[in-house]
Amino acid sequence: MAERNEFSDDLTHDVLSRRDLLRAGTAIGAAGVLGVGLAPASHAAPPAVADKPKMPMMALGKTGMKVSRLAHGGSWDIDPEVLSVGLEAGINYIDTAESYRGGQSERAIGEFLKARGATGHSAARKKLWLVSKTHRHDEIEKRLQPALDRLQQDYVDAFYLHQVQNPKLIADPETKAAAARLIKTGKTRFFGFSTHDDTVVECLNAAADTDYIDVIMFRYDCHYYKRADLEKAMDRCFKKGIGLVAMKTQVGGMTLPDKYDPFRKRGLNQHQAAIKAVAVDDRIASICSEMTNLDHVNQNAEAVASKLSLAENDAIKEHARLVSHLWCRGCDHLCKAGSGAGAQLAIADSLRFLMYHDHYDKPQHARDLYDQLPAAQRDLAAIEAADWRGAEAACPHGVPIGKLMSRVRERLA
Ligand code: SF4
Repeated sequence: MAERNEFSDDLTHDVLSRRDLLRAGTAIGAAGVLGVGLAPASHAAPPAVADKPKMPMMALGKTGMKVSRLAHGGSWDIDPEVLSVGLEAGINYIDTAESYRGGQSERAIGEFLKARGATGHSAARKKLWLVSKTHRHDEIEKRLQPALDRLQQDYVDAFYLHQVQNPKLIADPETKAAAARLIKTGKTRFFGFSTHDDTVVECLNAAADTDYIDVIMFRYDCHYYKRADLEKAMDRCFKKGIGLVAMKTQVGGMTLPDKYDPFRKRGLNQHQAAIKAVAVDDRIASICSEMTNLDHVNQNAEAVASKLSLAENDAIKEHARLVSHLWCRGCDHLCKAGSGAGAQLAIADSLRFLMYHDHYDKPQHARDLYDQLPAAQRDLAAIEAADWRGAEAACPHGVPIGKLMSRVRERLA
């Protein structure tokens, strides 16, 4: 069980969204609430677009492609202006998926690229590393062409299996054969997968045991990277020439109340520190980030081009100690085993959507995702009736599941 601390008690207070925070101004910082991932306005302003530092580039495994250390994630609403400023800042990596906004992300990116002449095999297109992904692991060969149609492209640079949880899928010879067939069509140049559940290490090791995975995008943040088994798996992949791309670098976007916040105490920008902490790792070719406004682009571009300071490193360590028990890692086979009557409920997904609601300033998106869960997995009466003590005892990270599931019921249903 993870060590609890004084901050645990603050969970009984309300948890505010970014909008709430902005509405309330600075006074709420000391009210014992969780904040959001981006630094408050009192932190140093991001540089003007014209002052942006040079975007660092890095070889993406053995693909022969150099990609920007910062990649544009596409799971939220696509703003062409943000994409445009990102490309001007040196970003050449754009990530999307068929599931993002029901294909709207691919369509919007397709429109954007077409308007810039980045279609076919044009010079503008060849500068980019464009990725899409499918959750339909059982029919990956059928899913690529519709993605290309939405993107208005002849090819993607890499097609990923989306959110791989079972390493056996990577080891399966049929997956390898399907990847080879897809590459042979010329509709994708390379093949890879994304993974962000509790089987990241197993999936990376499975990839290192094969010879056909070109790129992996995986959850890697300033807390997660301390795991020795993950470090070894990353080393294996890196040595094998598999391109490594980090995502979800913000530890769920959690910030702490002022009186606990180790970044604010030191006058630091937590969001940038978390990016820098990942960017110091030369095994990571690129960091995929959702950037929904120009401040995000500017701050992220500055972060990937800057060094992690000792003060930032200290603040990250302190933050990790304080929030470790509040951060759901997605391993709900563990807590479900102790959930009794609540075992049919979607714990990890619900807590992830709650994170989008509370910390990503995406309340409607969070509710939409929650609505898409099968009815039995979001049964409000079952949530209310469940005795969560068994699940909490089974959670190795000490997540206060009962309190958070109550909040899911209040905010997402
Ligand atoms: S509540 Fe704990 S055991 Fe359950 S998914 Fe989250 S981190 Fe894993």
